[in-house]
Amino acid sequence: ARTGPADFIALDERWSTHNYHPLPVVIAQAEGAWVTDVDGNAYLDFLAGYSALNFGHRHPDLLAAAVEQLGRVTLTSRAFHHDQLGLFCSELAELTGTDMVLPMNTGAEAVESAIKVARKWACQVKGITEGEIVVASGNFHGRTTTIVSFSTDETARAGFGPFTPGFVVVPYGDAAALAEAITERTVAVLLEPIQGEAGVVVPPDGYLTKARGLCDEAGALLIADEIQSGLARTGTVFALDHERVTADLYTLGKALGGGILPVSAVVGKAKVLGVLRPGEHGSTFGGNPLACAVGRAVVGLLSTGEFQQRSTALGAHLHSRLGELVGSGLSAVRGRGLWAGVDIAEGGLSGRQACEALMTRGVLCKETHGSTLRLAPPLMISERDLDQGIDALAEVVAVA
Ligand code: PLP
Repeated sequence: ARTGPADFIALDERWSTHNYHPLPVVIAQAEGAWVTDVDGNAYLDFLAGYSALNFGHRHPDLLAAAVEQLGRVTLTSRAFHHDQLGLFCSELAELTGTDMVLPMNTGAEAVESAIKVARKWACQVKGITEGEIVVASGNFHGRTTTIVSFSTDETARAGFGPFTPGFVVVPYGDAAALAEAITERTVAVLLEPIQGEAGVVVPPDGYLTKARGLCDEAGALLIADEIQSGLARTGTVFALDHERVTADLYTLGKALGGGILPVSAVVGKAKVLGVLRPGEHGSTFGGNPLACAVGRAVVGLLSTGEFQQRSTALGAHLHSRLGELVGSGLSAVRGRGLWAGVDIAEGGLSGRQACEALMTRGVLCKETHGSTLRLAPPLMISERDLDQGIDALAEVVAVA
């Protein structure tokens, strides 16, 4: 009988493609900030599905919304109307202060959709055909062919060409380089307000404000990819809110589906999203009744402000404790709210080794780029559990 972790791992190794290198833990159950493996060992989840689990595993309100909708209707296709789509879109637009919503499924699809709609807008409104989109080095926007076309990560690109033209890459956080790259042929500037995969990289103060100003001067769109940084992760609905900057389009995903199912969207100005006409874009599952019901429950949780406040308060605690580890095993700490990228000091463990050591201490997280760890616990985590995870990290990096 297949019961032990090694059996499940062997099955994965044999039958699933090897495009991931997971930690050797086999999860069977989860609740809140905790997961349990097939042997009954409990672990604190300090990754939270790359922020898809901002509300924790199986939040009761989200489960209730999903179960209720499962009992009614799950899929209609967009060939017909259903009674959840308009409610979801209006509630999400109200939460985000935007005019219109294009519902999709995964993050990469939302980014692809934003690129398409920006180009269509530039073509129709500005008469620019085949214009350019300016992006930043170190970006992560997904895995499709067009999106990896403008990645600066060779592992993500090598062997996957030919690539989609029409993108210009500038160094992230460098406003002068951005100013230089923008021309009359620029359709849009696409940025992560904080770069997640790159190691939770926060740009210099004022960078996003300058990016907004440069787009306004050039008549180009500002597109903010808030798939990882948005929906309360940094203490506000959008990470852009910290600079009081408004984008023309935002991409959302991950937490929008409450950790239950893939739900993404492009939200933004009607003057841009309004250019799409029937037949020009779509998705079989985008905006389906189950996704909309769960998305509405997510918007409901965010509309109280409770998760934003938790992220701010717990984030201050996290960053103050991590700051004390700089010089004692860590060389740098970055981030905002309950989100941090930490660099292990030179000569210490690799990121992977640190994650393995944390796993044996009952804490799960994920390395990125060598010796950087990304910490993104669920926003409902208790301060006690948060401290337990930080204590484990302190022990692991001190071993170095
Ligand atoms: N954009 C950002 C900023 C992300 O962090 C991610 C995923 O990590 C994506 C896009 C892609 O999302 P998905 O994996 O759902 O396609």
